[in-house]
Amino acid sequence: MRLNNTLTRRVEEVVPVDDRKIGMYSCGPTVYRYVHIGNLRTFLLSDLLRRALEFEGYEVTQVMNITDVGHMTDEASDSGRDKMDLAVADEGLSPKEIAQKYTQAFLDDTEAIGIKRVHVYPKATEHIPEMIELTERLIENGHAYEVDGTVYYDVRSFPEYGKLSGNTLDKLRAGHRQELEVDPNKRHPEDFALWKKAGPNRLMRWDSPWGEGFPGWHIECSAMSMKYLGERFDIHTGGVDLIFPHHEDEIAQSEGGVRHEVISAWVHGGFLRLKEQKMAKSSGNIIRIGDLAALGIDPLSFRYFTFETRYRKEMDFSEDALRAADTTVKRLRQRMAEWGGPAEGLGPDAKAFDGRFREAVADDLDMPQALVILNELASSRNVPDPEKYSLVSSWDQVLGLDVERDARAGWQPSDEVAALVGERDAARANKDFATADRVRDRLQELGLEVMDTPEGTRVRPRI
Ligand SMILES: [Zn+2]
Repeated sequence: MRLNNTLTRRVEEVVPVDDRKIGMYSCGPTVYRYVHIGNLRTFLLSDLLRRALEFEGYEVTQVMNITDVGHMTDEASDSGRDKMDLAVADEGLSPKEIAQKYTQAFLDDTEAIGIKRVHVYPKATEHIPEMIELTERLIENGHAYEVDGTVYYDVRSFPEYGKLSGNTLDKLRAGHRQELEVDPNKRHPEDFALWKKAGPNRLMRWDSPWGEGFPGWHIECSAMSMKYLGERFDIHTGGVDLIFPHHEDEIAQSEGGVRHEVISAWVHGGFLRLKEQKMAKSSGNIIRIGDLAALGIDPLSFRYFTFETRYRKEMDFSEDALRAADTTVKRLRQRMAEWGGPAEGLGPDAKAFDGRFREAVADDLDMPQALVILNELASSRNVPDPEKYSLVSSWDQVLGLDVERDARAGWQPSDEVAALVGERDAARANKDFATADRVRDRLQELGLEVMDTPEGTRVRPRI
């Protein structure tokens, strides 16, 4: 498996710290609002990567945090209002109830698009002691300082600051000259909070060596990733928007705490842009994955839709493209049913297809190319149908499209349909085309697709 590593800016072979085992951490949802389909593209990337690694035979342990501590509406300057407090005011539920509601919604949405459950979903609120401990360690190591109940990370104490994002202190300093207000408690404007003193109205607060307060957002990922994956692990994923400051700060915290490199590869996914105005016109706003069912779109088709663009590239949401993907997925399931079932073994042509598919997936998750190969296989005249079935069902470990759904359901024509098919074949044999056409129209009214084949009329449910 080769991956584009944001840290080294190169496509590199994955070399696990521990033989065939991979530890992977993925930044998870904030649970005071619903995730939209743009967020889900990023979560799909971590699922795709995990499936691709497992397809290659790696044993993957995946951890994803649940951010149930509220953070500020303006994350960069730690100002504005706390988002969890806003949700509490809006909905009249307690912070715990809000977190439970949106955690469940997140799990339902990800399940709907075939995202596998990760192995551990640690909640920030259940790991406050670990965050306090890491913060204490950073103070001991000379990377952090306390002022009036708030603990800041001293970015100048970490010379490698900026190595992930390219936002080195020189560059940041130039930017800060235009900034109007800088927290006067910070030694340097670039410093960020590890622990914040709780104001009088703040709902979620905990005791700490520095008084009552709450953790910064970045520290949760350092504390929880190292708790569950150890102080040296393989892959960290997230959206491009998290590179700075979230992941840059995470590196400074984790490496400042343990004094060595923690994570080998950083993998970041591009945005799915939602043109909300346009979407509102055409479809009443497809924002959540649950909205797709009402439009007759299988949520799994969203996977296929995202696979059409390389994961690092930005892509635009388009209902038409999603509908086209939906048709392709449903047709593929139907073809699988027609191919009947798996073969005993694979011939040389099928093996060549398999090699090409695996190579595309291993090449920094080149899913657009993998789909080209999939569609080439489907229409190939050289590979027998049962071998096609075997290949596509094994590739579904990566694709996650439930390609065997129709084959499992085993669609059978009703007695009425079978009688009409017989009637039409008889009419055609007698060159009674008027009757043949009339029966064809009747079959189509019944929701069937009618095909003329050398063996006679064939029908299947129309997509
Ligand atoms: Zn994170």
